[in-house]
This record gives sequence, structure tokens and C-alpha cells, in this order.
Amino acid sequence: MATVKEQKFEVLPIKRDHYSFIINGERVEGVAGETFSTYNPANGEVIATVARATVEDAELAVRAARESFDKGKWRRTAAGKRARILNKIAGIMRSRFQELVELEVLDSGKSISAAQGQVMQAIEDFEFYASAIVSHRGSVNPMPGAFFNYTQKEPVGVCAQIIPWNYPLMMAAWKVAPALAAGCSIVLKPASLTPLTAIVLTEICHEAGVPAGVVNIVPGAGAAVGNYLVEHDLVDKVAFTGSTPIGKNIMARASTTLKRVTLELGGKSPNLVFEDADLDAAVNGALFGIFYNTGQSCEARSRLYIQESIYDAFMEKFIAKTKQLQLGNPLDQKTHVGAIISKEQLDTIDTYVQSAVEAGATVVTGGKKAVVPGYENGYWYEPTIITDVTHDMKVVQEEIFGPVVVVMPFKGEKEAIQLANDTIYGLGSSVWTKDHARATRVANEIRAGIVMINSPFSAFPGTPFGGYKQSGFGRELSIETLDLYTETKSVLSYYGPKPLNPFGL
Ligand code: NAP
Ligand code: MG
Repeated sequence: MATVKEQKFEVLPIKRDHYSFIINGERVEGVAGETFSTYNPANGEVIATVARATVEDAELAVRAARESFDKGKWRRTAAGKRARILNKIAGIMRSRFQELVELEVLDSGKSISAAQGQVMQAIEDFEFYASAIVSHRGSVNPMPGAFFNYTQKEPVGVCAQIIPWNYPLMMAAWKVAPALAAGCSIVLKPASLTPLTAIVLTEICHEAGVPAGVVNIVPGAGAAVGNYLVEHDLVDKVAFTGSTPIGKNIMARASTTLKRVTLELGGKSPNLVFEDADLDAAVNGALFGIFYNTGQSCEARSRLYIQESIYDAFMEKFIAKTKQLQLGNPLDQKTHVGAIISKEQLDTIDTYVQSAVEAGATVVTGGKKAVVPGYENGYWYEPTIITDVTHDMKVVQEEIFGPVVVVMPFKGEKEAIQLANDTIYGLGSSVWTKDHARATRVANEIRAGIVMINSPFSAFPGTPFGGYKQSGFGRELSIETLDLYTETKSVLSYYGPKPLNPFGL
């Protein structure tokens, strides 16, 4: 059994002016020697430069991952020892929690309260998979006569992991932690807008003793580097989180080499509030469901359906609280809503809202770019509520990925379910009611991967996270995920007293 050698990996400050990337255990500047800048969306200022990976670097990263996998150092390390290293990664992250939070806030513009929860969850993800992997096991199966069969779980191989900008560190953890636990080798491609914490996580993996070549990171353009990884014949699996159009494209291209594919894609998640709900809890939940992370969440409850008998009472409170949301310094603990990731995303959000107005909808509050004192050069949008919508409008059907919610009344349970299911997506959903039987009936009928009853929270280590329909397939954050980073090998043996002679010759 190979052992994991402790290796020296220079520890640098988490916040610095320049970030190299990592291939085969080495910090590198890239074959082309190019760099790009990463910005703080709250004020538009450059935070740092990052070495830019090209397809040549992606090739080196895939080869390093392949070699580390084929030589078997990490995959042959006992699961218990891999678990210890995952716990060590979590420990280093805990000891540098505040620095990680601040870097995440700077690079993404999100509020510090949101970043704290996400960095903590990223840590807990490593701890969860450290525990889970040691009991991730095969089976012994019934066989006829003198035959014996067992199965074992083996790592799927080299994994290309492509992640988005909305939860830069947490998405990296959702992918890296289970793959490492399972014994895979990894090439991680962070979003170009938010590469920093994923680079730091890769560094921490090396500090903790993950062998060279097992975790490689290539910050480069999706269309070039991402594409290259998806098509590479030495890559066994692609795990992608991002938009639905790019997910479809990846699935098509990965099919040429029959890669294993998991896709966590977009959403347009419904929030159903029944007349017997605790009104204040439902208002607070609806507020968090859409405005958390500035609405830039795949599971954002961006469609709000209120039973008509409580519509006015609900809306009065919901509008009042939406107007109380604080936009401002993302590092201020009192800030509720952070910045939008980029100018392009800000314009996209505004175009969606204007399309609703042109189609006859009413903007009840918000509906325009926000001016935040001290942050005039950043990208901000007012928390926005839209009513008087019809179900065919773009704002009702398409993912906006911003702080914009559409609201509609409904008459009864049947209509609520029909409206909830009336999009191409099926990721999250929330149901607010004190009637347990109704909650169960509605949960059963909603075509979505996650149903939250009387709670706006969707993601805890151990609970499967993923979509139905065009929100993708595969589950992350849970035991099931380990199945998606492993193959099942079936081993059959014969133990009879007489040798087998099937042809009788
Ligand atoms: P995106 O544009 O699809 O990009 C996601 C990642 O894919 C980025 O790293 C991007 O690289 C890369 N990429 C772009 N084009 C590619 C290509 N042709 N081949 C391979 N990779 C490519 O999505 P986004 O705008 O960053 O993120 C927002 C989307 O992610 C939303 O739709 C949201 O719902 C979804 N999301 C889903 C979940 C979930 O769990 N279901 C979680 C979070 C986000 P560049 O950055 O270099 O372009
Ligand atoms: Mg940035």
C-alpha cells in the first residue's frame, strides 16, 4: 500500500497581489505567461492579478492528474488516511476562516454574513466526506452454487470540475471534497470572475498533504480551457455547475468519449405560501429565499405564489421588509444584500425587469440599478418585487440570477402545484403551511430535487442537492455523491471442488 508523503508546500498569505495556479504540486505562471485581473464587484477595483491558464496548461494539468491517478498513490491510499487528510484540509480552513471569508467577499461582492455561512459549509463538506468515505462500501451478492460475488467502489478516475462564480469556495468544496475522498484526481476550472478562493483551497490541499498531481487548478477561459477539459480523452468524468445552455453543450461534447457527466444547472424555484402558514415566518423565508446572495443562487426562490385569501396581508409585510434590506459595504455585518457580480450581469438583470414592464407587469419596489454611497463604481441592483405577471412572461420562465422576485396569487392547492411545475426547471422549492398533510401532498407533487417545508434553507452537508428536468442531474453534498465519483466493480469467483469446464472439452 502506497503511503502519502508529507510534502513541503510554501504557505503564502491568503490575501496577496498575485496568484499563480497549481499543476502537479507546483505553483506555475502558465505556458503563455499571461495574467488577468480579478475585480471587487462592490467598487470595481482590481484585487489581484492571476496567472492565466491556456489549453497548453490544461493539457499539462490533465497529464499530471492522469499520471497521479494511474500510478495510484492517492487512490491506493487507505480511505481512513484519505479521511485524515480531508480533515486536515478542514482544519487549515478553520484556522484561516476569517481570511478566507474576507477574500471571498472581495472577489465576489457578496455580503460577509453570506460568505461566513458558505465558508463554514465548505469546511464542513470536507469533514462530512471524511466521515462518509470510510463507510462507502460495496456488497456481497447472492450467487448460484459455488460462486462468490462481491462489489467494491473504485474511484472514477480523472475528474474535470468546472464551477461558477456565485459560490466560488463552496462550489469548489462540493466538487473537490467528494472526489478527493473517493480517491480521484482532479483538474479544477474556477469561474474567471472569481478564481481566488478556489486557488487558495488548492494550495490548502497541498499544505495538508494531498500528493502532487491529485488536485490541479487551471484558471482560464471557459470557452477555451473548459472546452478542452470536456473533450479530453484522458478525462473520465466532468462535473459541471453553471448555466443550463453551457451544461447542455458540455453533455453533448462529453458524449464523444462517453465521460461520466453530472450537471448542476439553473433554476426558477417556486415558493408556495398557503393561507394557514405562519405569515411572519413565510415573509421572512420568502425574503431570504430570493435576496440571499443577492439573488445569485441557483436555488433562489424567484417565483413567489401566495394563496389569494392572504395575498394582501402577506404583500404588505413582504414589501415593507424588502424596503428595509441594507445594501452597502459587503464587509459590514449589517449589510443584507451585496453587489452583483459584473456589469454584464447587472445589465442582464435590468433588461429582464424592463421586459416585464413592457409586457404589462408592475414593479412594486426596486426595478433599477442601485446607487450605494461610497460604492458608486460597483454593480448594484435594488431588491425588486414584480406583480401583475402572466405565466408566459420571460421574468416568470427564465432564470434572472439577481435580486428579482415575481409574485402571483393562487386559489388552491391544485393550482399552486400546477404553477410550481410550469417551467423547464426543477431545482428547489419551498412550501409554507401548518398543515402537515398538505405539506406532504405538495412535496410529493412538485417536480424538483429539493423541497423545503417551512424553511428557506436548502443545503446542508449530507442532504442531496441537485435538479430534476433541465436543472440537471446527479446529486451533490451527500452520500449519493460518492457513488458519482466511483465505479462499482463486480468481482465473481468460483470456489467449487471441481474445475469448471463449460464447453465440456
Ligand atoms: P456559466 O457561464 O455556465 O459558467 C460556469 C462555468 O463554466 C465557468 O467556470 C465558465 O468559465 C465555464 N464555461 C463557460 N463556457 C464553457 C464551455 N464552453 N465549456 C466548458 N466550460 C465553460 O455559469 P455562471 O454564469 O458562471 O453561473 C451561473 C449559473 O450557474 C446559473 O445558471 C446558476 O443557476 C448555475 N448554478 C447552479 C448551481 C446548482 O447547484 N444547480 C449552483 C450554482 C450556480 P468562465 O468563467 O471562464 O466563463
Ligand atoms: Mg472578482
